[in-house]
Amino acid sequence: MQPTQPMLHLGNLEGALRNWVRLQEQYDMHCCIVDWHSLTTMIDRTKEIDENSVGIAMDYLAAGIDPERTVVFRQSEVKEHAELYLLLSMVTPLGWLERVPTYKEKKQDLKGEYVSHGLLGYPVLQAADILLYKPYGVPVGKDQVPHLEVTREIARRFNFLYGDVFPQIANLLSDVPLMLGTDGRKMSKSYENAIYIGDDAEATAVKVRSAFTDPKKIRKNDPGHPEGCSVFSLHSVYNKPCVAVVEKECRAGERGCVDCKNECIEALNGSLAKIRDRRRELEGDRGYVLRVLQEGAEKARAVASETMKEVRRVMHLP
Ligand code: SF4
Repeated sequence: MQPTQPMLHLGNLEGALRNWVRLQEQYDMHCCIVDWHSLTTMIDRTKEIDENSVGIAMDYLAAGIDPERTVVFRQSEVKEHAELYLLLSMVTPLGWLERVPTYKEKKQDLKGEYVSHGLLGYPVLQAADILLYKPYGVPVGKDQVPHLEVTREIARRFNFLYGDVFPQIANLLSDVPLMLGTDGRKMSKSYENAIYIGDDAEATAVKVRSAFTDPKKIRKNDPGHPEGCSVFSLHSVYNKPCVAVVEKECRAGERGCVDCKNECIEALNGSLAKIRDRRRELEGDRGYVLRVLQEGAEKARAVASETMKEVRRVMHLP
């Protein structure tokens, strides 16, 4: 996760974090907060990154990532990421990076502003982040599978040139629930439509009350269309036992949006209460969170430095 914000939103929680918490039962995991990656969009706001990283670590821990089992660390505290990035960039043809769809999209978003070398090289740094730990697999949603393919191509090319150092990485695919933001688009910090793990119950209620619903449903007895309604998408995740009733009543014009939102607020706040309480506790014990990050960095460095010894050896570098 990139620390571009001081806390994670519900899309991050349901799309990734919950899955990581499940996976740590089965795998030894490294969960990295990729603070160098956030420089691609925060180059004029670098002083926010450190504090944001601590906030993201609090969200990891509050959601159930167990630092006794899982290594939680910041990318910038393990300098081997930068070294492997440099070496991998030498074996990566430019064309591979120029073809990456997210690069093309971001380039367009810049609307004539300069494109940094870092933005183009983003997938190489990502490959370094992954390959340093020689993992069996990486947890991904279906839309992220192409990103992982660049890492595989870079690993294959490195192995072709220098011998089998890096494994072929498996996709640990998970079903990511569709989480709409309060404006009906995908939940995203940049759309300013997100509900955050760290929001309190009242802030959550204000956001849900103003959320986008079916514009054709004006009165309670108008038949509604729950697909595309952001409140319904929240019901689908946080009010599962009642979601069929919500859908039926909405379509039949037996449910008003105000009541529907109130029910959603109750379910949402109830479901997040434990995580939020835990987060508040962690906010009051910053020293513990910093210790987790420091110890995580030490454990990550131990693995990363072994990989780098091997990489330097096969490349005949000192
Ligand atoms: S009744 Fe509920 S699900 Fe239907 S449009 Fe209104 S808020 Fe959305």
